[in-house]
Amino acid sequence: MTHSRPSDTPSSGTDTSVHLEERARRLDADDPLAAFRDAFEPAPEVLSYLDGNSLGRPTRDAANRLRDFTADQWGGRLIRGWDEGWFEKPLTVGDRVGRAALGAEPGQTFIGESTTVVLYKLIHAALDARPDRTEIIADSANFPTDRYLVQGIADARGLTVRWLDPVHDADSGVTGVLPAQVEKAATAQTALVLLSHIDYRTGYIADLPAITDIAHRAGALVVWDLCHSVGALPLTLDEWDVDFAAGCTYKYLNGGPGSPAFGYVAARHIPSATQPIRGWMGVANAFEMGPAYEPHPGIRRFVSGTPSVLAMVPLEAMLDQVEAAGMEAVRGKSVALTDFVVELSDALLAPLGVTLGSPRDAAVRGGHVTIHHELCEAALPLLWERGIIPDFRRPNGLRLGPSPLSTGFAEVYAGVAGIRDALLDAGAGE
Ligand SMILES: *Cc1c(COP(=O)(O)O)cnc(C)c1O
Repeated sequence: MTHSRPSDTPSSGTDTSVHLEERARRLDADDPLAAFRDAFEPAPEVLSYLDGNSLGRPTRDAANRLRDFTADQWGGRLIRGWDEGWFEKPLTVGDRVGRAALGAEPGQTFIGESTTVVLYKLIHAALDARPDRTEIIADSANFPTDRYLVQGIADARGLTVRWLDPVHDADSGVTGVLPAQVEKAATAQTALVLLSHIDYRTGYIADLPAITDIAHRAGALVVWDLCHSVGALPLTLDEWDVDFAAGCTYKYLNGGPGSPAFGYVAARHIPSATQPIRGWMGVANAFEMGPAYEPHPGIRRFVSGTPSVLAMVPLEAMLDQVEAAGMEAVRGKSVALTDFVVELSDALLAPLGVTLGSPRDAAVRGGHVTIHHELCEAALPLLWERGIIPDFRRPNGLRLGPSPLSTGFAEVYAGVAGIRDALLDAGAGE
């Protein structure tokens, strides 16, 4: 760590840094959502947390509510709690997620298991609704769980997956599946189109309304993976005519490690919808313990077993914050934060050979910015040691995901300046 840094010598680098640090201060002063940062648990040894796209920070309320729930509800009400709201929680919390973040009328959203398991249910439900068709359209570069699931289900059902390779344009940073590709691949055999709304690597926002429309015109259904969109930008699933969707609650909904995922099923599909994990909690009257599975008439049919009541408590605390801020304002802050990341990266990191792996145009960029440099992996331990926490992706990427309600602009500055220093210490620019 004996390298001389641009900022150690009187150069234009110093002016740039001072200017950008000052800009960060002004952006914080003008931030209408700045006060929300106090709603999150402080982490004194963390200088800059830039991994909200993988695990959101806990609200301060999360710990209080977990303690109160344990003492008063679990401890005080004991088994009576199931009649006093716990049984309904997958649907009441689902409706809250629907209203606050999905643009979904009540009765279409449930809280289930992991995203993987919820997607498994929804993919089967969509295929059951198109029994005479033989093909699934999917993204060959989608998040692993989506690819593994869709191939496994296709194998089990004797269907064919038509894999689309995302288009890559290095200049604009756009990497993703485009409507024209889906248009070309969709036929009278297409049962289902399964895609992620926001690419987990590049942050590219797919044209969800256009692709949904193309799928419908071919007579197919859509399942959208919303893991990187929910809580990062406003969604209007009802208005977009989406059929099925699922997403995480531990990323931008700050539900905590392993908090259960939500699933959305459009009201028009629910009465005839089937799902493969037929459990006792998804029937019309669970406590009758009836002889045969009779699916509940409503969205409850997508619930399988005993819901993760305790694990929804921190999510409910975060929903208070999201409802208070409103998703339009959250997206406004998110765009300002990622614009600033791009500006900082251009000024401080590009001179070291760092390249941008995300769209420059905020209109097609989600909540994170990906950067590439061959020394990212070498710099990572230095960053962690210094309290700067980005998200490392092999082989050479860092994803910088400033969660809108919990991240300030000075924190972003400190993070990107720290990345520059760590890259220099790892030998960049030599
Ligand atoms: C994070 C993520 C998941 C996670 O699935 P889990 O079952 O919750 O582990 C799935 N899909 C995408 C696109 C993701 O980004």
